[in-house]
Amino acid sequence: MAHISNLAASEQVFTSNVFLVDGDRTVLVDPGNEFDVVSKIESRTGGLDAVVLTHTHHDHIGNTGAVTEAFDVDVWGFDPDHDLVDREIEADTTITLGDHDYRALHTPGHKDDHLCFLRTDGETVFAGDLVFANGGYGRTDLDEGDHPRLVESIERLLDATDDSLDSLHAGHGPSIEREARHHIELALRSAQMG
Ligand SMILES: [Zn+2]
Repeated sequence: MAHISNLAASEQVFTSNVFLVDGDRTVLVDPGNEFDVVSKIESRTGGLDAVVLTHTHHDHIGNTGAVTEAFDVDVWGFDPDHDLVDREIEADTTITLGDHDYRALHTPGHKDDHLCFLRTDGETVFAGDLVFANGGYGRTDLDEGDHPRLVESIERLLDATDDSLDSLHAGHGPSIEREARHHIELALRSAQMG
C-alpha cells in the first residue's frame, strides 16, 4: 500500500498537485501554491523529513517558505543555484520518498531543472509537468521551454519504464493507478505531432 496523497486535490487556486509521500522518510513532492498546505500536512502526518521539487515553476513552489518554516526541512532540487534549493539532486541519483527508493531522471523541455522520480522497482513515477494523464504533456511556451527537448525527455522516461509501471502522479490533473505506461506512450505520440 503506497502512502501517497495529493494535498491539493480539492483546491481551486493556481497550484500544482502536492504529493505527501508518507513512510520511513516522509517527503512532500512540490509544495504547491496559494493554499494552507502546512495544516494539511499536520493533519495527516507527524512531521516532514524533506521537500523535493520536480521543478521550480511558481505554481509548484509558492508554498515552500511556509513549509520549511513550519517543519525545518531542507529543499531538494536539480538546480543548486536556485534560491529555494538547499540540496542538489543530481541526474540518475537515488532518493528515498516514503518507503521506497526512486531514481531522479533529468527531463528538461518544460523547464531546464525538471526532474521525474521513478521508483527503482519501476512501479510508480512522479512525472511533474513532463506528462499528464490521458496523453497530456508539459507546455513549452514558457521561459526555458523547448519542444524537441520535451519530446526527448518523454522518450527517456518511456525507455526507463516497462509494463510494471502502475502509477503515475503528475503535477496537474488526476493520478493514474494502473497501466500508467500507456499514458506516457500517448503523451509521446501527441507531443511528436504537436
Ligand atoms: Zn511547470
